[in-house]
Order: sequence, then structure tokens, then C-alpha cells
Amino acid sequence: MSGEYLDGIDAEPVVGRPLAAAPRGLRGVGEGAASTLRLFQQTVLPGLAASAGPRYLGFVTGGATPAAVVGDWLATALDQNAMSQLDGSTALALEAETLEMLRVLLGLPSEFSGVFVSGATMSNFVGLALAREWAGRRRGVRVGDEGIDPSTAPVVFAGSAHSSISKALSMLGLGRSSLRPVPLLPSREAMDTARLAGLLADQSHPCVVVASAGTVNTGDFDDIDEIAELRASHDFWLHIDAAFGAFASVSPATAQLLAGWRQADSICVDLHKWLNVPYDSAVCFTRRRDLQLDVFANNADYLSQPGHDPEPIHLAPENSHRWRALPAWFSLTAYGADGQREIVERNCRLARELGARIEKSSDYELLAPVRLNIVCFSPAGGSAGGAANGGASVAEVAAIVNAIGDGGRTFVTPTALFGRPAIRAAFSNWRTTEADLDVVWSALSAAAG
Ligand SMILES: *Cc1c(COP(=O)(O)O)cnc(C)c1O
Repeated sequence: MSGEYLDGIDAEPVVGRPLAAAPRGLRGVGEGAASTLRLFQQTVLPGLAASAGPRYLGFVTGGATPAAVVGDWLATALDQNAMSQLDGSTALALEAETLEMLRVLLGLPSEFSGVFVSGATMSNFVGLALAREWAGRRRGVRVGDEGIDPSTAPVVFAGSAHSSISKALSMLGLGRSSLRPVPLLPSREAMDTARLAGLLADQSHPCVVVASAGTVNTGDFDDIDEIAELRASHDFWLHIDAAFGAFASVSPATAQLLAGWRQADSICVDLHKWLNVPYDSAVCFTRRRDLQLDVFANNADYLSQPGHDPEPIHLAPENSHRWRALPAWFSLTAYGADGQREIVERNCRLARELGARIEKSSDYELLAPVRLNIVCFSPAGGSAGGAANGGASVAEVAAIVNAIGDGGRTFVTPTALFGRPAIRAAFSNWRTTEADLDVVWSALSAAAG
């Protein structure tokens, strides 16, 4: 069924239909798997979005390459618990190999080691947990053992931080209010590094800076090189949220966006977005594995003790650990660095091309240059009763977004850029081609017409 579905996904409506069938609830006597599959096909499948397909441009979604689907299927069928060497399996050796392949793909130095987690939110959580521990140590507090003392907890500076950063700070007990916004450069989502320097100069204690490498609205990047240089005179932990932007490093055309990122202390990289492996999968890279153990070591007599080469159970929030490495290994092995680069470059080319068509059109207005794979735009003009700061209102944008989705040919999502209602289209699926761009463009034109 999966094969048939994926073979035909180009022809599927991109947005699912509302479901008619009422939930059946739990029954005493089961239906059997074959009958359940039929039931699924009839009553659930029609409601699903074709988010694995080439023209689902919402959020930053990515798809799943055929090799990754094979790997994921096997990870499910073989059901390894890749948490510890004591599990009688060599699954962890392949996990280590996969992390090394990813490190090399991204061009990170060998001091970095990675751990698999469920998504960029958890990856940011791990990076910020290490930052918390580091800042605590600087002030004589072993946070993992002693807990947080609010009077010594670090403040966290960021420009256009992803929402998951403040969620992570909430989960870490640092609190959402520990996040201090850094003013942005004019018409940019990147922070003004000179202003950051001023804010850091006012701090008398170690703090944390979260740099964005790829914002969700416009794919903008903080100037990581400039930020890293501030470490010569200021004491801070540098975490980079490079959930999808990390993949800019695989192409010479975009690698410069990440200049300086090798100097980070921790880096968040999502795999279920631009590596095109199925949900859920991400990695946190860090050069401070010692702190990772301080935070996440899981000691029990029946488990192994964290040794020289600690296992995932001692490095991440989870104990039991899905073998997420397998789909990534399949995809990296099957397509190589060249294959991944081709996907990234094609997605970026299509985003630039859409941006160029929007710039030329009288229906839409491009709101930010296309730096990577995201196009941020709005309907041109807008009514007199539209948004206060010019442009279309929230309701007008919602109407256009719905009209674009209604034809079932593509799917884009609404946002706001500097308070202005906007639309974003993100290219991150391995299937998307030039021909898809034409279909997307005709859907956009029809919705505006
Ligand atoms: C998607 C994203 C996240 C959150 O990722 P999840 O995988 O959904 O947890 C964090 N930061 C950035 C920049 C993202 O694009």
C-alpha cells in the first residue's frame, strides 16, 4: 500500500479531505490486520495531507527518500532499542557510524560528537541543557546534581529565535523570561551583532547566545562569525539552531551562510526536514560531551556505567531509543554527499525561481530576499482596511492561503513578518522539480485572479 500511495503521490490532492466516518472506538473482538488496513485506506487515508509529496510547501517539512523509507521500515520491523551496548546488538555501531557520516557531510570538526533525538526541539533542549550546566559550573553550581538556583541561572540572548527555544527554556527551568531579545538588523531577521555586544558588555556573569542559522519565516541567518568573535571579550555559550539551515553547508553556493558555525559549543540539526528521513529524527552536536554526561547520565545497576565512549542512554533525555540512525544511514549510503547536495541545491534553485516570479508579478510582493529555501511573500496591495502597516490583512492572507490550497495542487502556510501578515513557501522535499514549480505558480496565480 505504501509503495502504491507514494508512486501516485504527485496526483494526490496536497491537502486531506475532512473525514466523514465517525470513530469506531475500541471493540472487544479485533478485526484482524488485513481488515484494519482496508478500514484505514477507506476512512483515514483520504484525510491525510500529501506532506510526503513534492508540492507540500508548508512549514519546513521535507519528505522521505526511498532509501530512508526502507531504513525506517526496517528500524520498525527489527525493533532495536539502540540505547546501550548491553543490549546484545551491534545497532549502536551503525549509529556511531551514521553520526560520523553526518558530521563529515556537514563539515563539522572532529571535536563534535552527536546524539540522536526526536526533533529539533529536543536537540535545542539538549544544547541548552549543556549551556545551563556550563553556566552553572562557572558559578560553582553543579546544576545536574544540585538543581537550578534562580539567582545564578544564565540569561539567553537571541535574535529571531525559533519558538522551540523558549519552550526548551521553560522545560529546563530557566524560564521563558530568561530569553532576552537582541535587536535585529533593519529589514532582517538576523540580530544586530553590535547591539548584542552591548548587551553582553552589561552582563557580569556567563550567559548564553542562541544564533539562528535559518529562520522559519525567511531563511535568514545570524552572522555567526561576528558573534563567535565576541567570545574574545565576552564569556558565553554559543548554541546554534541550524535545524534546517545546517544543510546550507553541503553546497558551496550556500555554505558561506554558516561561516563561523564550527566555533559553536552546541548545534541543533533536524534530519526529518532537509535530510528527508521520516519523522522523527534530529541530532544535537556538541564539543562538550563531558557536560552531556553530567546532565543525562543514567545510572542503574542493571545498565552499563557511562564509560569512555558513552552510550545514548547517558547522552540524551530518552532512555529507550528508537534506531533513528538506520533511515539516515540508508539515505546517506544510498545517495552520498553528492545526492544530498543535489537535493539542497535543487530546492534552493526552485525557491529562488519562485521568488523571481513573485518579484515580477503584480499579484504578489516578495517580502525578503530568498537566501536559502524559503520564500516569504504577501498578496500585492491589500485593501484600505488591511493591515495597519500596509499590505494585506490577516483575513486577506488567510483567504489567499485557503484559495491556494483549495485546488489541491499545493499547500503554503500563513505567517507574519515584522508584524505584517505574510505567506511562506518552503522547499525541502527531495521530490520537488521544475515541473512542480510550474504547478505551484499556476495555483498561486489562480488564487490571486
Ligand atoms: C523546525 C524547527 C525547529 C523545531 O523542530 P522540530 O523538529 O519540530 O522539533 C526548531 N528550530 C528551527 C529553526 C526549525 O526550523
